[in-house]
Amino acid sequence: MSAAGTALVVSAHSADFVWRAGGAIALHAARGMAVTVICLSYGERGESAKLWRLPGMTLDRVKTDRRKEAEAAAQVLGAADIQFWDLGDYPLTLNQDSLFRLVDVYRALRPAFVLTHSHQDIYNHDHPATTEFTQHARIVAQAHGHNPSEKVLGAPPVFLFEPHQPEQCSWTSPRSGTRNAPRSNAWPARSISGNITSASPCSAAPRRRGIPTRRRSPMARATRRYSRT
Ligand SMILES: [Zn+2]
Repeated sequence: MSAAGTALVVSAHSADFVWRAGGAIALHAARGMAVTVICLSYGERGESAKLWRLPGMTLDRVKTDRRKEAEAAAQVLGAADIQFWDLGDYPLTLNQDSLFRLVDVYRALRPAFVLTHSHQDIYNHDHPATTEFTQHARIVAQAHGHNPSEKVLGAPPVFLFEPHQPEQCSWTSPRSGTRNAPRSNAWPARSISGNITSASPCSAAPRRRGIPTRRRSPMARATRRYSRT
């Protein structure tokens, strides 16, 4: 395990983590953190339109190409590990086996923070399903009665990807702010559990070349708080 700790990114489809959290992954990897990316599916049916326009395309070829792209992106970003669970998309199929598999990942990694999708996305049901799944696994990982011989998980903060239409997903960020969204729809900075925080992962990216930036990211601040408890 990296001395700088670990982070977990749960991506519904194999390209989601790249444009929704690429800056945050690169930043924290550059700081020595071991970032694990889990792609629950390849996005082979719903998020691979360009590939499906090519002649003779098959589901297996789409998956193979999406995997290569995601592996290359993860390498560029400096992720320590990328996993492909191939659970299908449109719809993503999540069951107890996959839930317990993610629980095992939580307990093995003991991430300092978690990144996943927003709670709402009216354009994509796989994304909020992934959010619910990720949060559910985190809660199960904290349960003393689940595989009681293992050490339970603490309470790593969960950060949410900014959706591409935040003003239509009841999502605003104090940093990225969505001008058109009414304030009453703004996502609370902290949930009732005190561990879910909305913040654009991109806001954690360095503003200009030269990592690390002096400014502490929202994730870094939350991680410091978590590591003190
Ligand atoms: Zn997606």
